[in-house]
Amino acid sequence: MKLYNTLSRKKDTFKGKKRVNLFTCGPTVYWFAHIGNFRTYFFEDILKRVLLYNGYTVKHVMNITDVGHLTSDADTGEDKLEKGAKRENKTVWEVADFYTKHFRNDLKSLNIKEPTVWVKATDTIKEQIDLIKILEKKGFTYQIEDGVYFDTSKLKNYGVLWGNKKPIELKAGARVEAILGKKNITDFALWKLTAPGVKRQMEWDSPWGKGFPGWHTECVAMSIKNLGIPFDIHCGGIDHIPIHHTNEIAQAQGAYGKMMANYWMHGEFLNIEGSKISKSIGNVVTVDNLIEKGFNPISLRYLFLTAHYRSKLDFTWVSLKASQNGLQSLGEKILRLLEGQTTKISAKSKSLPVYQKKFLDFINDDLNMPKALALMWQAINDPTLPNKEKYSLILDMDKIFGLNLDKIRKIKIPKEIISLDKERENARQEKNWPEADRLRGELQKLGYLIEDTTNGPKLKKL
Ligand code: AMP
Ligand code: ZN
Repeated sequence: MKLYNTLSRKKDTFKGKKRVNLFTCGPTVYWFAHIGNFRTYFFEDILKRVLLYNGYTVKHVMNITDVGHLTSDADTGEDKLEKGAKRENKTVWEVADFYTKHFRNDLKSLNIKEPTVWVKATDTIKEQIDLIKILEKKGFTYQIEDGVYFDTSKLKNYGVLWGNKKPIELKAGARVEAILGKKNITDFALWKLTAPGVKRQMEWDSPWGKGFPGWHTECVAMSIKNLGIPFDIHCGGIDHIPIHHTNEIAQAQGAYGKMMANYWMHGEFLNIEGSKISKSIGNVVTVDNLIEKGFNPISLRYLFLTAHYRSKLDFTWVSLKASQNGLQSLGEKILRLLEGQTTKISAKSKSLPVYQKKFLDFINDDLNMPKALALMWQAINDPTLPNKEKYSLILDMDKIFGLNLDKIRKIKIPKEIISLDKERENARQEKNWPEADRLRGELQKLGYLIEDTTNGPKLKKL
């Protein structure tokens, strides 16, 4: 298996033990996750499915950020959870609970497998304080009025994820809201102190004073607690490269002298109708919005499959409609397969192992879903593949795609419906149109539609 590793900036052969330890940065539960966020969770789901397909077992840990994620990456601004609580006039805990549940429902709608372990930032405060204590002991921290900070100048190789490109937002002279007393522009908060006069719902005692942890500290404590160090793969969206993951690496390096994870993988962003997804633009789309507009959320999975996870993807309603159509026609082809309407070659086909090998090559080549999906279409339209083999090949491929193709069933039509349909057909033969129409209406009332197809009229369940 080859996976693109942001750390080495190339496709590396994956060398993991039988059990793979995977950490994926999870949602900040102050609002609904949008379809951009889900593009990243989808890519991670594909990664997990490909690992499983290759015979690995996966211990997947995902965090729930329920404190400490500020509205600005420069350690300023409000805590998103406290902001959410004010907006909804609820407690922070209620807000976190509501959006966590909603997030898990959305995962289900998109057929994204749940992690093995969920871990909340607020359940790991002790481990976070312990981590900061180690960093303090090793001389990587300093305290200012605002909180405890990591001194990035003390670390020899800070910023290994960047390659030779320093992120624009961290270049000297970049416009940032500076925090008084911060020594270097790249220094980041480990523990923020509750500001005098501010009433926070979430705060904890610490050796440095009452406050709350920094977002980057949370993920280090949560991942290492559950997966040890180093663990195999750490994932997130590309926006995590310049700051969040860079600062996670810095802390693990400082505290334990080790690289935190062996492979770092990042998914490209989803735009909507050509624009960055943003509340201020007002173009945020959620899974609920798709359902409200009559879309099957799985068609979003199909759309995501059409682009490589390291390429930008632009979501449009037109492209979603095309994906829904693609999914539908896939379903119809499978139905026809089940009904045995296509070729009935009984001998074992020679092309089956070729498809299987190609499929494995594509998915193991840094999760090349567009090629794998095109191969599925090629297989489904291949007249030399016998039905049974074709069907099991498609279901096998769907272990990766997750399009729920195994749920497509030949419908069992009750006897009385079949006899009503026969009566209607007789009426039609006798050119008794009023009677044929009456029976068609009767069938419709019972939930069956008669569709005119090239092979004559066909019963379909509504
Ligand atoms: P957040 O809740 O903001 O921490 O984001 C959750 C995940 O979604 C992170 O892994 C982000 O990198 C990712 N993400 C945010 N916006 C997008 C987007 N437009 N496209 C793809 N992934 C995104
Ligand atoms: Zn994280």
